[in-house]
Amino acid sequence: MAAEIIDGKAVAAEVRAQVARDVQAWVQAGNPQPGLATVLVGEDPASAVYIAGKRRACTEVGIADLHRHLPAHSTQQQVAELISELAADPGVSGILLQLPVPGQMQGNELTALIPPLKDVDGLTPMSAGLLAQGAPGLRPCTPAGVIALLDHAGVQIEGAEAVVVGRSDLVGKPVAALLLARNATVTVAHSRTRDLAAVCARADILIAAVGVPRLLGAQHVKPGATVIDVGINRTDAGLVGDVDFEAAAAVAGRITPVPGGVGPMTIAMLLRNTLSAAQLQAR
Ligand code: NDP
Repeated sequence: MAAEIIDGKAVAAEVRAQVARDVQAWVQAGNPQPGLATVLVGEDPASAVYIAGKRRACTEVGIADLHRHLPAHSTQQQVAELISELAADPGVSGILLQLPVPGQMQGNELTALIPPLKDVDGLTPMSAGLLAQGAPGLRPCTPAGVIALLDHAGVQIEGAEAVVVGRSDLVGKPVAALLLARNATVTVAHSRTRDLAAVCARADILIAAVGVPRLLGAQHVKPGATVIDVGINRTDAGLVGDVDFEAAAAVAGRITPVPGGVGPMTIAMLLRNTLSAAQLQAR
């Protein structure tokens, strides 16, 4: 039986359209326009592309584009001062520091300066702590996108056996915490896990966030399981995920493709977080 494909591009477009409607309603109700301050330090070409995509997406949904660019030779102190200025500015709903920052700076220390109510990337130690404790807060975008895809596909999370392969602070750990908060029974696998296939084959929901092209195949997938592939790997054969799509799709019940699965959800959730941040600050 061929698996149902979860179309992340279509779900992301729906989320973006809904955020646009919600922003319009928020502003029509007399509230100030939400604004996202993306901060780029230096000229890294990949970062410039990512930032351009985020800025364009903001404009499309009616969020003010409050981009700031500092030169590559800036000091840690200068970037810290900019983040403090944006933190204190009531017109700025969300702050996103694009990583990596140039070598002379400590990206983690700078990110930690973003106040929790403006942390639209959800990656500061404070936001991670709130998530770990199950307290309200802004959640990291890619992990939140994974949950949104599961919900959209009608996957039952409560009580499900979920296996997350990967334990990074960016994806694996927050996905695991979000699934736990939704009452899944969660196992986190990593590079030292013994018999990865046996662990994965228990999963009703299998999340791959590894960064190894096509690591997970048919033997890792329980028949009928939902497989969410977060991996984005550039290979000679083009962009591929952490899951061998053809092999896994023959066994799974539902599966996300790469590209066109989790990838498009990240910016959609960033937009959702920016509106949520504006609303939290207005309370
Ligand atoms: P990291 O490199 O930070 O973490 C990878 C994790 O995978 C680690 O926990 C590592 O284990 C584990 N791992 C590595 N090799 C194996 C193996 N052979 N078996 C089991 N586990 C293994 O990656 P990220 O979490 O940042 O990213 C994961 C993937 O997701 C990447 O392909 C990345 O490009 C993609 N990504 C996609 C996004 C999107 O769609 N928008 C956003 C962010 C990431 P250990 O801890 O033991 O070293």
